[in-house]
Amino acid sequence: MESGHYSFTSIVFYSLISVTLFCVLATSQASADWGQNEVEVNSVYEVGCGVVHVSKEITFTNMDENTRYWQGFYSSLNYPVAPGHSNLSSFDDSSEIKSKRAEDGGNYYMFTFNENVWYGDSYILTLEYDVRMDPIYTTFTIREQSDSGNVKLIVPDNYEAYLEDVDYAKENLDDHAVYTFDNKSFQEFPLRIDCVKTVDTMVDSEIVSLEGRNVSISVEYRQGNDEWAQNVLDKTATYLPLLEDVWGAPYPGNSYLTIRESSIAETKGYDGFNYGNGTISLLHSAGDRVLIHELSHSWTHACNFEQLWMHEGYANLYTFLVLKQTNPEKALTMKSELEDGYGKNGHNFVQALDGWSIPDEYNTSSSESIGYGYSKSFVFVSDIYENVGFERMQIANRKLLATGNVDTSDHISIIESVSGKEFDEMYSNFV
Ligand SMILES: [Zn+2]
Repeated sequence: MESGHYSFTSIVFYSLISVTLFCVLATSQASADWGQNEVEVNSVYEVGCGVVHVSKEITFTNMDENTRYWQGFYSSLNYPVAPGHSNLSSFDDSSEIKSKRAEDGGNYYMFTFNENVWYGDSYILTLEYDVRMDPIYTTFTIREQSDSGNVKLIVPDNYEAYLEDVDYAKENLDDHAVYTFDNKSFQEFPLRIDCVKTVDTMVDSEIVSLEGRNVSISVEYRQGNDEWAQNVLDKTATYLPLLEDVWGAPYPGNSYLTIRESSIAETKGYDGFNYGNGTISLLHSAGDRVLIHELSHSWTHACNFEQLWMHEGYANLYTFLVLKQTNPEKALTMKSELEDGYGKNGHNFVQALDGWSIPDEYNTSSSESIGYGYSKSFVFVSDIYENVGFERMQIANRKLLATGNVDTSDHISIIESVSGKEFDEMYSNFV
């Protein structure tokens, strides 16, 4: 698959369970050196229907030199708890532990130990809570910045688990599997867990009449998500004619278009994918902007653009122009997000757009450079659009579609010929 086939609008990286240990601090009566202490965390994430049950056994060991010789002790721990959690409980081996939500609005609680922890002593506490999930898609990330410990993931057999490329041990039990990860697996970047309930695939179809022909749209979805499918079908029937209007060219794709409801593993971490063969994968939680973007790729594929910036820049420009008609507020949000992404990161990435590519699988470690490429492509194509104007841009689009294969020099010559303006300088700033 060429990079031009990847389609992406904005980074959707689920952090429904975000357990970043950004604020593990214990209080001490002495001037403490927290860094010397040791925290071992052993966690269990149990996937259930519409919920993940989390339990964490935390062993805190006071190794702070400043508290030696009875000069102080630790008596509490600040520990993050996933946003949107419910049923939080905390206890040690004898009784309940008091907890208090962070006053600064952060996603952590202060847990007060039932005893003072002196130098060299350890204290074990356990936290339990639930996090609500979609009934079919259980997607969350794990991050534990503990010194040691492991994570167990319990997945019932009626779920399919998609795990990132990290080491783990797997044990198949009666009606579930247990995956064990070492805490090293997610020290640097959160580990994405994607479990999808095994349900039948259903299909809903509709014929949409477009300029000069009928196109059959099918939405493949997981049983139970009829409403999602109907909504995607209705939206597609609305957006395709609007895209024809703004592009100034009839829908150039196949007479059959299939849109497939997908999990984040199936979209490889992106929001959507247009394979260029009449099939689109759409993340189950993706919004209108992603749908329009992927539909817009039907035109960019037909242009046979050689460069990824053309595919993504045009897909986003025409998404913006459709959103401007259907949801002006969302359109402006999208524009400023992309413009900010370009302005903010310009000094970090000097890469010219020609030759820009994105990884097959979206990953957190390259998210900034991926996002920057999308932003820069959008800003560039929008600048061209502002200079050329709506109608002449449509003339250019028809020429691009007729050219067969468009590289950067074909692109600039078509833009210059329809506008009668010089673009050398602008292109040299971007590509
Ligand atoms: Zn795209």
